[in-house]
Amino acid sequence: MNQSTPSAIVVGAGVVGLCTAWSLARRGAAVTVVERGSVPDPRAASCDHHRMIRLSYADPGYCARMTEAYAAWEALWADLPGPLTRYYHERGVLTLSREPGDWGDRARAAMEAAGQPYERLEPGELAARFPHLEPSNEGYGFVSRGGCLMANHILTDLAERLRGQGAAILEQSPVTAIDAEAGEVALADGRRLTADVVVLAGGVGAQALAPDLLPELWARRTVILYADPPADLAEAWASAPCWTDLGGEEDLWGLPPVDGLPLKLGCAIMGRDRPDPEDRTMRPEEIERMLDVYRGRFRGIDRFQVRWGQANHFTCAPGDRFVLKRRERLWVVSADSGHGFKFGALSGEDVAAAALGEAPEAEVARRMAALPA
Ligand SMILES: Cc1cc2nc3c(=O)[nH]c(=O)nc-3n(C[C@H](O)[C@H](O)[C@H](O)COP(=O)(O)OP(=O)(O)OC[C@H]3O[C@@H](n4cnc5c(N)ncnc54)[C@H](O)[C@@H]3O)c2cc1C
Repeated sequence: MNQSTPSAIVVGAGVVGLCTAWSLARRGAAVTVVERGSVPDPRAASCDHHRMIRLSYADPGYCARMTEAYAAWEALWADLPGPLTRYYHERGVLTLSREPGDWGDRARAAMEAAGQPYERLEPGELAARFPHLEPSNEGYGFVSRGGCLMANHILTDLAERLRGQGAAILEQSPVTAIDAEAGEVALADGRRLTADVVVLAGGVGAQALAPDLLPELWARRTVILYADPPADLAEAWASAPCWTDLGGEEDLWGLPPVDGLPLKLGCAIMGRDRPDPEDRTMRPEEIERMLDVYRGRFRGIDRFQVRWGQANHFTCAPGDRFVLKRRERLWVVSADSGHGFKFGALSGEDVAAAALGEAPEAEVARRMAALPA
């Protein structure tokens, strides 16, 4: 490796690839990002108006990493041109627990253990504090730090910043093969690029390029619905927090109206494993089902105006853990499992530190998987 100016190719311009490119460039590397589509690409898991960031995590390891995750974002935003509100809206996150030991209750315990602050609300207090909720919401809730990461703004400005720093970003350039030993990347148009380090951050496209390194991954399709609440509930929604209600059978999560956008409803059980790569639109019956699972949770669901639905594919790994592996000059990263955007800036720092030899590979892989030392 050229020690003074190592060269690096990053395959994939989702949040993990772009943040890794930024962290590599900050360390003095000459970076080329290669993306099969545009930045952001509508097929990328990272591509949407926003993604949630939350401290509440049932997994103690990822809960503990959230302080670092926020710090990594703050360092990155300071280097981008926009005001903070272009990248982030602090709205708080309401986590619901229905019974002792469920996801929400374990998340609260993990927050307690990590020393993260939260405000606990008993059932009677929930609907009084948040009038958009049906009073029937059982269990307790807690509110903690979190909000909306403005995903597409972050990706667009990050790519622009990288270009300004001299990085090359090759759009519409699908990669067809990677030679780990030579550090060579072959593009569909016949070009071949080489570098000291190649980072594969290709999301659902990564496995095809390194099947033997990433046999444990699989793709999942999920749907989200953007909708406007009825006018009489608009005021209640205007100050509503993001929500995670992952303890029951339905696995609900979503984001309130922010930055002129409608609110966004998500439901993890509506996901499907190993999807058809072309299956990327939300079907009318899925819209109906999404509204149905929210009946009894949010007031006035039957009067919500559906604006649009969206289907995205993302990558899952066992235990929902992030994966970092290496062969020769090639580093492959999958920091997703449906919860990776919030860690994007931190994952970029981790991968860059490992790839440039600043930190031992096994130690970084363990940190990214949020496993105990
Ligand atoms: C609907 C939905 C909601 C989510 N909500 C949240 C949330 O609220 N909070 C949160 O933290 N996380 C959330 N996630 C997860 C988060 O979005 C992902 O973890 C994260 O975006 C993954 O980023 P990535 O860079 O690994 O992958 P991607 O964003 O998929 O990026 C991979 C890139 O590689 C490119 N690529 C693929 N193959 C090739 C190739 N052969 N050549 C060149 N380029 C290639 C792709 O075009 C793509 O741009 C959600 C995911 C989905 C789908």
